[in-house]
Order: sequence, then structure tokens, then C-alpha cells
Amino acid sequence: MKRIEANQVVYALSRENPPAATADPGETLVFLTKDCFSNQIQKETDLFASVGWATINPATGPVAVNGAEPGDTLAVEILDIEVAGQGSMIAVPGLGALSEQLTHSETKIVPIVNGKVIFNSELEIPIRPMIGVIGTAPAGQAVPCGTPGPHGGNMDTRFIGKGARLYLPVFAPGALLALGDLHAVMGDGEVVICGVEIPGQVTVKVDLIKAKAEPGPVLETAEAWYTIASAPDLDEASQSALQQMFAFIKRRIPLPPNEVAMLLSITGNLQISQVVDPLKTVRMEMPKWVLKAYGVKF
Ligand code: CA
Ligand code: ZN
Repeated sequence: MKRIEANQVVYALSRENPPAATADPGETLVFLTKDCFSNQIQKETDLFASVGWATINPATGPVAVNGAEPGDTLAVEILDIEVAGQGSMIAVPGLGALSEQLTHSETKIVPIVNGKVIFNSELEIPIRPMIGVIGTAPAGQAVPCGTPGPHGGNMDTRFIGKGARLYLPVFAPGALLALGDLHAVMGDGEVVICGVEIPGQVTVKVDLIKAKAEPGPVLETAEAWYTIASAPDLDEASQSALQQMFAFIKRRIPLPPNEVAMLLSITGNLQISQVVDPLKTVRMEMPKWVLKAYGVKF
């Protein structure tokens, strides 16, 4: 199994990035990842100000997938996520959705023991590892790893975890998959601007779906399908995620538009992924049991 080491990182996703490795469709790969601070926060006296913005959000890779061409879809099945024994969180006045409530810049270091975050002596939180940054090379200019978009990137969507399958549009030859920014656990919104940030390793299987692409990322879990969209504000991101789910279903099941819209209205769930990145991310969820009658596949 190929390993992509944690020193092979990029800070922007770009068609110009030279591949750190190549893979065939169907191949399983292990990505070793630094945390979003490039592992520069190790103790509670390491404040966010000491981490340069230039080294925020490293993504390991990219991996060129043989045969991938613009217009294809890269299917990334997340087989496993292992996280390190210690994670970090920050609260920084001026950052995030609660910035005015924060009294001073603070770092919190939390041990991970037996699958739980030791938050303090009263509270342990079960981990639910997820990938914050995962994407292909975007269509045009390079996009910093901290920014989400149609290519994926910093989607901070907590269901991008073990067992999920992420479908990413291919915009550049080889697709150029990179990933990083693991969180041991995170809530929807990521309101204070971080999850439990943590290094780790991710095992994925990459596959190629030829000449078939959605306009943005689609996520499949055991329970549901999601379209994921990012925009400067939540209204626009919501509209985009919703329109993409409408089109996704419309292409796959033979219902008139009004019925698809009604189905979305009574069984779909519009959900917030994050509100703290340069673009905000929303996902539209459709339960699989609803679409099962029609045998919906990607
Ligand atoms: Ca992130
Ligand atoms: Zn993060």
C-alpha cells in the first residue's frame, strides 16, 4: 500500500502542483497528515499568533490518479481514519462566530484516550474522526487549502469520515487529490473556528467514474446522500446545495420536477457544515431510504 508522507504537503490546491505519488483506479492509499497548524501547537503556551498563516491547513499530496481527465469523477472511499494521541483547540478574539465573546487568546491541549477526547476532569467526548480538507485540483487558479469550493477543499463537513464515499469533480488531468486537517471531533458550524485539530492517517480507496461529473462534491454515507456547496454567505450556499441535490435526483429518477421538489421539502434536510471559513459550507441531505425505491446510485 502506497504511503504519502506528512512532509509532502501543499498549502493550495492547484493543477500546477507536481504529484507526490501516482495511483491506479481501485488502489488503496495511506495519507499521513499534519494538523491544520502544521503541528506547531504542542502545548498550551503555544498560541495561535505563533503559527504563521503561511503554514495553516497543509494538505498531504497531491496524488495523481492514472487516467483521470476533466469531466470525470474521482470517488474517494474513506476506509479508515486514525488520529494521534493528542489534539488541540484554539479560541482567538476576532476569529470565528463567537469572536466577541472571547476574552483572550487561548490554546487547549486535549489527550485522546480510549477513543475519547479528555475535555476536562468532568467531561470525556467520544471521538468521531473526520477530514476537514479534501479536494482535487480546482478548474482555474490555485485555491488555498483553507478555502472550500466545487473541487472540495476546506469543507469541514463532519460526515466526511470512515465509511463515507466522497465524489469529487475532476478538473485537471490526474485529479490531484490531497487531504488533511483532521478533526477528532467537530460540531456543525465549527463555530469557534476549530475542531479538535489533530495529526493522523487516512486510508482511502480511489476510483474513477469516467465522463460523469456533478458540479460539486457529493457525499454518500450508509444513511444518506449529500450535495455540498460553499459560498460567501449561507443563503447562497444553501441555494447552491439545494439546486445541486434537485439536479442530482432529477437526473436519476423519473419523477416530474414538482414531485422531486416536494420530496426534497418533506424528507430532505438542509444542514450547515461550517460558518467560519472564507466561504461558508452547506449540505443538502437526502435519506437513502427515500431514494431506495428508485435504486439511486452515483
Ligand atoms: Ca478546516
Ligand atoms: Zn481543522
